[in-house]
Amino acid sequence: MRIGLRTRITALCLMVVLAAIALCEVYLSDRLERVLLERMRADLIVRLELVEREASSVTESMQQYAVWDQIADDFALRSMTWVTLARTDGTVLGDSKLSDNQLGTKFDLPSAIEVEDALAHGFGESRRYSHLLEENALFVAVPFRMEDVVVGVARVGIPTTQFKAAVEPIRRVLLVAWGLALLAALVLAWPAAHLITGRLARITAAARRMAKGQLQTRTEVAGGDEVGELARVLDSLAEALGDTLGNLTKLEASRRELVANASHELRTPLTAICGASETLVAGAIDDPKAAREFVVLIDDNARRLRRLVDDLLDLSQLDAGRFPLRWEHVETNPLVESVMRTYRARAELRGIKLKCEIEAEARTVYADSRAFEHVLGNLVDNAVKYCAPGTDVEVHAVRVDDGIVFSVQDSGPGIEAHHLASVFERFYRAETSRSRETGGTGLGLAIAKQLIEAMGGQIGVTSEKDHGSRFWFSLPRTTS
Ligand code: ADP
Repeated sequence: MRIGLRTRITALCLMVVLAAIALCEVYLSDRLERVLLERMRADLIVRLELVEREASSVTESMQQYAVWDQIADDFALRSMTWVTLARTDGTVLGDSKLSDNQLGTKFDLPSAIEVEDALAHGFGESRRYSHLLEENALFVAVPFRMEDVVVGVARVGIPTTQFKAAVEPIRRVLLVAWGLALLAALVLAWPAAHLITGRLARITAAARRMAKGQLQTRTEVAGGDEVGELARVLDSLAEALGDTLGNLTKLEASRRELVANASHELRTPLTAICGASETLVAGAIDDPKAAREFVVLIDDNARRLRRLVDDLLDLSQLDAGRFPLRWEHVETNPLVESVMRTYRARAELRGIKLKCEIEAEARTVYADSRAFEHVLGNLVDNAVKYCAPGTDVEVHAVRVDDGIVFSVQDSGPGIEAHHLASVFERFYRAETSRSRETGGTGLGLAIAKQLIEAMGGQIGVTSEKDHGSRFWFSLPRTTS
């Protein structure tokens, strides 16, 4: 059977109250008994003194039992006690409980310890069973004198049932108080437990909904205590999970898009290669002129395929964070020069002049040289690819406040304003046909953007249709 938290808390409260009651009970009843007994004893001693004083003042002979008995009876009546007067040898002179014919008999001294002690030490006291009363009683006794000589013992006793009767009303009040305390504990503990468990139940319900995938669920449990803290932690967990899930979904979507785009891009050169090789196999191979044309076609498309595969590999490495960047303070001039060398021959073939201007203050940059060459190479390659023969392509490096800005300026066809924001997206081509003609993959700028951002820089373009383009990127300046 499952015992709920609320029942447990309530049971615990009740147990604590019960334990407190038990402790009080033990302590109080013990104390109460002692206090009452002490008071009773003190009272009895006062009465005994009075009896002793009266006995000491008697002038009658010790043989006049009737006189002594009268004294005992009178006093017993007034003080509501049992009064006994005896001689030192234990012979009873007067007793409020004994009949007249029993007077003159002797005390059983060993059992009447109080009488023996009174004679031996001047005061005696005992709490014991009395055969005469047939119940427990408290006795006190003192010797009394005649003309300064001890002649007898005065003793008063009282049944302890009297003391029990005095305790009884107090016990009843206490019992009612304990009952009320238990009731109060029960009445208060149940709603108090509900206060905690109710909030826990709300958290559990919210957690169940979250587990079912409803991550926008919130616990809606407030409070600065531990339960409130638990609710807050759960809420932020759900939020973080929701964010992660959202990111994963986006990532998955972009992965699918990449796969679809890549397959589409791969299909074009592959179709061209298959078509050309089939034509060759079908007989074109025997016509040297046609054969050459088809082989060139195959070569072009195979190169394009390789570029595509290279770019895709770079991208996947960047995405997976496996494109390690080595930061260093590098000389700008040799880096830019090496890129220019790579593209100069191809530019000259197209009648394009590559120019370069690096400001004195932009001679060093803090970057990864491989990534830098990759990005600048891509921008120069595009400029050479897209601009018309007979024009210039200029590379500039200038210092700005917090870094160095590199730019590649061409006087090519430019890019229409509505394409500008998208040219850095994967597989985006401002003018598809021209890019395809030139063997572009549509991935170069996307890779460049990722690399520059990884190096803490920015990349952008300003361009106007038919008025050339200026691609730029910034990098942090060396600090030394
Ligand atoms: P691609 O391999 O197609 O050149 P990029 O990512 O390098 O791929 O460029 C994306 C698109 O941006 C290109 O298809 C082209 O339309 C446009 N573009 C890039 N550079 C230039 C430029 N210098 N002049 C005009 N258009 C450009």
